[in-house]
Amino acid sequence: MRRIGIVGAGQAGLVLAIGLRQRGYDVTVFAERPAGEVRAGRLISNQCLFAPALQRERELGINFWDAEAPPVREVAFAAAGDGSEPSMAWRVGLDRPAQSVDQRVKVSDWLAEFERLGGDLRIRRVAPAELDECAREFELLIVAAGRGSQFDALFPRDDERSPYREPQRAIGILYVTGTLDAVPGLTFGMAPVGECFLLPVLSVHGPVHGIGFFGVPGGPMDVWDEVADVEQHHETARKLLRAHYPWQATLLDDAQPVAPTELLHGRITPVVRHPVGTLPSGTKVLAMGDAAVTNDPVGGQGANMAARAARAYQEAIVDRADRPFDEEFMHDAFARYWHHARHATRFNNDLLAPPPEHVLATLDTAQRVPAVAHRFAHLFENPADYEDWLGNPEAAMRYLREVTAERA
Ligand SMILES: Cc1cc2nc3c(=O)[nH]c(=O)nc-3n(C[C@H](O)[C@H](O)[C@H](O)COP(=O)(O)OP(=O)(O)OC[C@H]3O[C@@H](n4cnc5c(N)ncnc54)[C@H](O)[C@@H]3O)c2cc1C
Repeated sequence: MRRIGIVGAGQAGLVLAIGLRQRGYDVTVFAERPAGEVRAGRLISNQCLFAPALQRERELGINFWDAEAPPVREVAFAAAGDGSEPSMAWRVGLDRPAQSVDQRVKVSDWLAEFERLGGDLRIRRVAPAELDECAREFELLIVAAGRGSQFDALFPRDDERSPYREPQRAIGILYVTGTLDAVPGLTFGMAPVGECFLLPVLSVHGPVHGIGFFGVPGGPMDVWDEVADVEQHHETARKLLRAHYPWQATLLDDAQPVAPTELLHGRITPVVRHPVGTLPSGTKVLAMGDAAVTNDPVGGQGANMAARAARAYQEAIVDRADRPFDEEFMHDAFARYWHHARHATRFNNDLLAPPPEHVLATLDTAQRVPAVAHRFAHLFENPADYEDWLGNPEAAMRYLREVTAERA
């Protein structure tokens, strides 16, 4: 069977590896850390997966946590106003629940599953200079090593598809337990200084809530560089809620940080890369997941896109039959993925800019017209709806006129 190597055991690489192994491909995964270390390690993501990405895991039979993971059944939105009440607020059910299972849980369980399926797992951090040596063993080598600088030179920035050159948010995530059980689904707070998200998560510590603040750099929510531990993070988060999301001022008062490791601070520059890299020998390698397209996590798209990438790349590999995995194949595989990822990327990038009039009008109308709230909430699972709707101010305003006329 054809020999495929994958550098990086994350949401993208492992789902592809397991899918290919199930089809009988000879797959090797290079993982930085063994399962036990991943599970005991620091927080990686907030990883809310929506229905289409969950569907991929269910098709492969690797949705091991459906019985335990708290379902995310609705989206509750609120925007800051002048006083203590939000200027607008609505909530709406998701047609199919979303779910956040800690990536430390997923990756460690999937590493075991990959080995159970006879996959070749090698615990090894592959340096860029070692890729040529690795590539010699395989007909196709895929780099799914996540975001970061190590493979940037191999997959240069695609300027036309990358509007930002700097991080657009200062991110702080904390996992807490306590009195948040009544908080429904995914709670999304919007303020001029940034966003706040709260959602239930099945973590390595069992059911918890993840609360994330996404502050505009240089603004009053750009505070995480100074925060050293979970207690300080918890106190800072409470202050941010009181100052910028006052309708949720007491949300964390009776909550406790889950453990000293359960926090995450960072800044991410959104970037789309040229997906085909050339090694010194001339061998081509293909980027996948965050290594190819990194988005700011504000729109919750990255892990969802990684699942889509796993599907698109697997289909491209299977369709290739026994023809070579050459450069043309690699561009075709990425194009299949980009067909979806371009929508998620545009939606996500636009969320980072101050909302224009037509988006504010839409969020406002969503309070009175449930169909508008429903459509907005489902952008997270179906960002392809964005381009011809909120991505086009005239179309967005026309839609609002139509839905409000229908109700008159
Ligand atoms: C704070 C935060 C919140 C987020 N929230 C969401 C969300 O709600 N919804 C969503 O969809 N997405 C979210 N994301 C994004 C999501 O986590 C990523 O987009 C997704 O994990 C990308 O998957 P990946 O497999 O490409 O990369 P990764 O998950 O980063 O996996 C890459 C793997 O490669 C390994 N690796 C790295 N270098 C090497 C090497 N040289 N050799 C071998 N192995 C290597 C790493 O150890 C890692 O295991 C969030 C991200 C962050 C930071």
